[in-house]
Parts: sequence; C-alpha cells; structure tokens
Amino acid sequence: MAHDCVFCKIAAGEIPSSKVYEDEHVLAFRDINPVAPVHVLVIPKQHVPSVAEFGPEHDELLSRLFSAVRKVAAETGVAETGYRVVTNVGKDAGQQVFHVHLHVLGGRPLGPVA
Ligand code: 5GP
Ligand code: ZN
Repeated sequence: MAHDCVFCKIAAGEIPSSKVYEDEHVLAFRDINPVAPVHVLVIPKQHVPSVAEFGPEHDELLSRLFSAVRKVAAETGVAETGYRVVTNVGKDAGQQVFHVHLHVLGGRPLGPVA
C-alpha cells in the first residue's frame, strides 16, 4: 500500500468516499468539493502520481479508466447532455493530489476550457 496518499487510502477503504463505480482496477467517487452538479474523480487503484508517469505498461489501465468514465457518465445522467474529462499535471495545472485522477464534470454548461 502506498505511503501517505489520500487516494490510495480511499481506494483501500481507509477513508470513506461516495462511490459511483468500482471494479478490480478502478474506483470512481464524488469530489469532496464539487465545482459542477456532477463532479466525479476516476482513479486507478494502483498508485501512479500523474499522467506524466504513464508508460506503455499502463495502456490497459488507461483503457480501463476511460471505460469507467463512460460508466460514470451513464450512471450520473450526463452521457447525453455531455461532460468534460480533465486531469491536472503538475504545478501550473494546480495538481493537488499526486495520485492520477480524471475529473468528470457535467450537469451544467461548462464554458470554455481554462
Ligand atoms: P487536483 O487539483 O489534484 O486535480 O484535484 C484534487 C481533487 O481532489 C480536488 O477537486 C479535491 O476537491 C479532491 N479531493 C481532495 N481530497 C479529497 C478527499 O479526501 N475526498 C474526495 N472525495 N475528494 C478529495
Ligand atoms: Zn496513491
């Protein structure tokens, strides 16, 4: 189990979360500080700090993450209305949690990116 990582602890069930989807490799849960009516975080259960550390060995995991995004969109009712998938990498993006996560945002018109 990875060190002092809040999302590893959520994945391990040590910190409670509002789960939207879970399988063997991936977990999706509601962001604690939502910025849109639908704001879900999709994470691998395995600790990877950010997109910058993904390599070819993570190809299957990447596919699983995006499959989970589609399931989250269906589950939260935004599959038809549309949604945005965001992942922050490093300082200028304001990444706060260094366990890779995809933000799934929707439920209102989101405006331009950044
Ligand atoms: P980042 O800025 O790293 O892309 O996003 C981190 C996100 O994780 C933020 O939107 C923040 O609200 C969310 N977050 C941080 N700690 C927790 C937590 O303990 N539980 C949940 N559900 N979300 C968290
Ligand atoms: Zn972690």
